[in-house]
Formats: sequence, structure tokens, C-alpha cells
Amino acid sequence: MAKYKTAVIALGGNAISPKGEQDTIANQFRNTRKSCIAIMNFIQQNYHLAITHGNGPQVGNALLRVEMASDIAPRLPLGICDADTEGGMGYMIEQSLQNSLIKAGIDRDVVTLITQVIVDAKDPSIANPSKYIGGWYTKEEIIPLAKKFNWHVKEVPGKGWRRVVPSPIPKKIINRKAIKHLVDLGIIVIAAGGGGIPVYIMESGLYEGFDAVIDKDRASAVLANDIGAQELFILTDVDQIAINFGKNNQEFIDKIHLRDIKNLLKEGHFPPGSMGPKVQAAINFLENGGESVTITSLQTAQIGLEKGKYTRIIP
Ligand code: ADP
Ligand code: MG
Repeated sequence: MAKYKTAVIALGGNAISPKGEQDTIANQFRNTRKSCIAIMNFIQQNYHLAITHGNGPQVGNALLRVEMASDIAPRLPLGICDADTEGGMGYMIEQSLQNSLIKAGIDRDVVTLITQVIVDAKDPSIANPSKYIGGWYTKEEIIPLAKKFNWHVKEVPGKGWRRVVPSPIPKKIINRKAIKHLVDLGIIVIAAGGGGIPVYIMESGLYEGFDAVIDKDRASAVLANDIGAQELFILTDVDQIAINFGKNNQEFIDKIHLRDIKNLLKEGHFPPGSMGPKVQAAINFLENGGESVTITSLQTAQIGLEKGKYTRIIP
């Protein structure tokens, strides 16, 4: 049997909806096709792959539609919006990648799987929801909405008010065996989009969904461990991660060991909500058997890692 490596590629928000651009479907498709250039570089190297992606803007728009149509169409809970965006975005990535493969004359299948992700029913974030989602409001606007839709809301200091939901820590991907079988056959699997749909296990042993979101980088690491991947690639909008990011003494990292990045995380170089979850995902993946994590820009992955700059984290 041919030797191959298995990797998970996590596409950041800008792979599909760059900041400052209107997220029309036409634009999303165009960006997705461009992102496929990066994925094709891995395929050309015979990687076996699972692909994950963010869904922040898309799920935000889905929630807005639910809110605006709430008196004429049945309301959709967050879990359904997550599942819908996994399907819609999965379709975009799947078809764009299929077309890239056809053009390159490569015969490999691509499939999208709606992914439920198990979280702890007692995850502390459930009692203390703090992940901002959906639109922005003034306090006067959000109070009646919170009442109508049963939202938890919170002020973003100095910026406005938003809905908040729990962001529990992902533990296991439910359909991990099916994903692993497909990936081992060389099928490219798009899974855990937007971090997947959070579910917990009830006392009866059955699954139940609830209104929450999972960080896509954390879910990507769990997926990578669950399918026995050796490598995790996190593609975002910076080439490398930095110590003292944005300061005069900023220093980019080429290669770093697990213990050193753990110390830097503790020292506060990687904020929650942006680089923090990526670094935590990298740590978790390596501590659970992963061999390497690469954090770089989509652009570097497009021109080929050997030609660009990246940060590599190893055990
Ligand atoms: P994604 O959509 O790919 O998840 P995020 O915006 O969540 O992207 O995270 C990437 C961002 O993290 C970068 O654009 C950068 O501004 C920010 N960032 C924060 N701390 C660092 C750091 N120490 N090194 C590099 N980037 C950092
Ligand atoms: Mg992010």
C-alpha cells in the first residue's frame, strides 16, 4: 500500500468570508474556489484529508433570517442553523474542490458530513454563556428581543449589545469512525464545519442538542485525534504566530516545541477568540498523539508551504 500521511486542514473565516467583504453567495463561492488552491497543494502531495471550516458570518446571517421572519416562518434553533450552514458551506467547498480535482485530472471523491460533537453536559460555559453571536444592538433594542427569543445577552464594552451562548469544550466527534474509514480510503471529508453541532449525552445514554457553539479550531483538533491524523494545518490570515503580537518587540515564531508554546500561552501572548483557541487546539492535538501542527496563512498554503512562512509546533 502506498504510504501517506493523514491531516486535518482547518480553514479560517477568511477562506470563505474575508473581513470587510460582503458575504454574498457569489463572493463566498469565489473565495472558496481560491481556497481550494491551498487544499490542492496537499492533495498533490497525496495527503489523506479531512477539512473543517469556520461559519461565524454564515450562522450570524442564518440567525438574522430566523429573527426577522419569526412571525411568519417557524423559528430555527441554533443547532439547526449550525447543521444548515454545515450543509450549505459543505456543498460550496465540496463542489469547488470537485471541480479543482476534475481540472487536475485527479480521481478522488469529496463528501460532506454533518457532524455532531459531544460536549460535557456539565461544561462550565453552559452556566456562564459568553460567546457572542448574531447581530449587534443597543440596550433598548436587545431587551425586547431577549425576552421574545429567550436570549442571554451581554454588552461588548464600548461597542454595543449581543446575544451570548455557551461555547463548551468539544470532547468527541460522534461519527468519527465513519469519517476515519472514508479518510483512510482517500476520500476527502468535509466535517465539523463551524465546530460542529454541540450535543451532550443524557442520563439515558441518548444524545440531545442545545443552543451553543463550538470553537472550530478546538473541534478540528478533536477530529484530528479522533481519526488518528498525524498533522493539523490551521489556515488563517497571518503567516506566523508572534510573541508580543502587535508590539514593538514582536517576534515571529518559525518552529517551537510544545512545552515552550504552553508557557507562552500562560504568559498571555495568544488572546481568547483569535490565536488563543488555535494554540490550545495545537497543544491538545500534540498531547493526544499528533505529530505536528502548522499555523499559517491561506496565502502561504496557496503558494506552497516551502515558499512561504509558517509556524510549526512539534512535541
Ligand atoms: P480565523 O478566522 O482564521 O479563526 P481569527 O481572527 O480567529 O481567524 O484569528 C487570527 C487572528 O489572530 C489574526 O488575524 C491576528 O490578528 C490574531 N492574533 C492574536 N494574537 C496573535 C499572535 N500572538 N500571533 C499572531 N496572530 C495573532
Ligand atoms: Mg477564529
